[in-house]
Parts: sequence; structure tokens; C-alpha cells
Amino acid sequence: MNTNTYLSVNNLSKHFGDFTALKHISLDIKEGEFICFLGPSGCGKTTLLRAIAGLELPSEGQILQAQRDITLLPPEQRDFGIVFQSYALFPNLTVAENIAFGLTNQGMKKQEALEKVREWLELVDLPHSEHKFPAQLSGGQQQRVALARALALSPGLLLLDEPLSALDAKVRAHLRHEICQLQKKLGITTIMVTHDQEEALTMADRIVVMNHGVVEQIGTPREIYHHPASEFVADFIGAMNFFEAHHEQDGLLSINDYKFTHSNKISGQSVKVALRPEQIKVSAIQQTGIKARVVNSEFLGSFVRVECELENDKLIQVDLTSELLDELKLEPGSVCTLSWKSEDALIFEEQAA
Ligand code: ATP
Repeated sequence: MNTNTYLSVNNLSKHFGDFTALKHISLDIKEGEFICFLGPSGCGKTTLLRAIAGLELPSEGQILQAQRDITLLPPEQRDFGIVFQSYALFPNLTVAENIAFGLTNQGMKKQEALEKVREWLELVDLPHSEHKFPAQLSGGQQQRVALARALALSPGLLLLDEPLSALDAKVRAHLRHEICQLQKKLGITTIMVTHDQEEALTMADRIVVMNHGVVEQIGTPREIYHHPASEFVADFIGAMNFFEAHHEQDGLLSINDYKFTHSNKISGQSVKVALRPEQIKVSAIQQTGIKARVVNSEFLGSFVRVECELENDKLIQVDLTSELLDELKLEPGSVCTLSWKSEDALIFEEQAA
């Protein structure tokens, strides 16, 4: 364990009857870090968050928070604030009463609690809202109140369980930015569960990518995007093309007649080669590469995403500028050649079952 590790999950598993939701999860979170648990539905991210909150007891393993073993402690004896997807505010209490609830419960005088409430409302950009009831606020505003309520007790750890997924796109983008700013300002260690990769890539210091109850990769957004550790991560994050390639000899792969070098140690005969749409070069038909036929193109502002079909009917996405599209006179039905820099190709071998 690192000296600045704030939360440490060691070999954690969780079984629900015969079903294993978490399998031997280990990870260390540094003080002040913003971590996202990211993965498809059912991968276990909420179960892991709930185990950290004490809302679910693990079947095995250990959780340490600030060097304290919290594995079996009830939630009220742990040091965290939590915000859920559904705002979970008390509907019959005003905004001020909602935020002050925990403070007065802890014995703080009403006046002092009200001052704290005002400070928090300023921080979450909702001044002068203390007398309103939750139903009088928008979804985004209610989530700000929920955030203020979670932070009012100055917890050591902030847990966010899909806090933005019930909000519309514009509010979500705005609140995303505000949560990040507030988190950095307070320096509070934060874990957010999300299935939205864009949210994770833009907000997290490090992302924990999960699949079927295991951690596939832990890394910064750039590491996860540029150096995915597995085929699953490569496929899950961002757009990715996969090609079946033949292992010709040490250092040489081929797809049809196109041969390219690589520096991986490969044991099998066939591998998957992964390339992002922006890493594939499109050129006129006579160049070296793989023959493809343009199926359609989508104008996306700063670039055009072209869908091409290979001879084996596989569809490949390629990003290029509008200028290049015009220069090559590419339109549905046009034949072209795809190629790439050898060093850009990610290579994945079939995993032994
Ligand atoms: P989502 O994004 O859909 O919420 P998730 O990654 O958060 O997915 P979890 O809620 O952690 O997934 O669930 C992981 C697996 O554990 C799922 O297959 C779920 O059905 C199962 N599971 C969760 N809670 C229970 C429970 N109380 N009893 C039985 N199975 C459960």
C-alpha cells in the first residue's frame, strides 16, 4: 500500500447465492483522487460502491479507509457522503432542512447549521434557495442539493452513484464540470459509478474499468484510451475497429495481402488487430493496404466518419477530413485502400478459456 493511499480494497469478492458479482477485486485509491468505476450494466460497479459504503457486506476480502479496517462496519460508522441517481431528498423538508439534517443530528446548533447550509448553497451555485421544497427545483438543482447534503458533514470520502444519469444532456454536461471543480477545490477523495464512458473520460483522474465482476484495467483516461490492456477495454472505450490478422512470422502480420510489422510477442497463428478510426489512412486504390468499398459517410463537424466494407463484408470506420474526402472523391460505392502505421496497431491474442 502506498503512503498516500486513502482507500484500499483487497481481494474483495461478493456472492449473491451461486452468482459471483465481484471476483477478487483489489485497488488502491489515493487521497484526493477522483476515481470512476466504469463498465457495462451488471459488471458489479454498484455492488463495489455499496460494499465501500457498507450497504452490502462482502463475502471475502478487506476494505481499509484511512488505515482503518471498515470491511464489516455499518454505514453510520463509516466516513462518507453519498449521492444517488434518484435525488433522494426528503420531499417534505425545505432545501435548508435537507442539507442541515445531518448537521443538527450531530448536535450542531440550528443557527450554526443554517450558516453552514448557506455556505454550501453558495458552493453548489444555488444561493437563496434555502426555503424552497425539492419539488420546486429542477432535476439538476435537486442533485446540487443532494451534493451539498452529502458534503455538509465534511466526509473523508464522496461516493457518487450515477448522479448525472437522470438529467438531460445539457444539465449533465454543466454539472459534470461543476462537480469536478468542487471536488478539486475541496480535495475530497471521490468515487463515481458510471456506465457513461464520456463522463468517466472527462471527469476521472483514474478509471477502473470493470467487466463481469473483475477489474479489466485501472488507469488514467489517456492510458485507458491509448493503451487498453484487453480487447474488452479496447472495444468498450471509444470507437475501435477490429481486424482478424494472420501471424506470418516473428514481427510480421498480414491481413489478406497487406503485410505489416509489429513488436509484440505472439504465440498463436491468428490475432486481432485493433485500430481507432482516426488511425486508419484512406488512400487511392493503387496504394499498399487493404481494399475496401465506401458504404456511407457521416459529417461530424471537424471530421467525417466514413464506413467502409472489406472484401469479407466486415465494416470498418475511418475518420478523415472533409478536404481529403473531396480530394479522393469518396462516395458510396467508391473503392479505396486502408492502411496504418505499424506502431498504432494494438494486437490481442485469443485468451485461453
Ligand atoms: P448497472 O449499471 O446496471 O447498475 P452494475 O455494474 O452497477 O450495473 P451491479 O448492480 O453491481 O451492476 O450488479 C452486479 C450483478 O450482481 C448483476 O448481475 C446483478 O443482477 C447482481 N446483483 C446485484 N445485487 C444483487 C442482489 N441483491 N441479489 C442478487 N443479485 C444481485
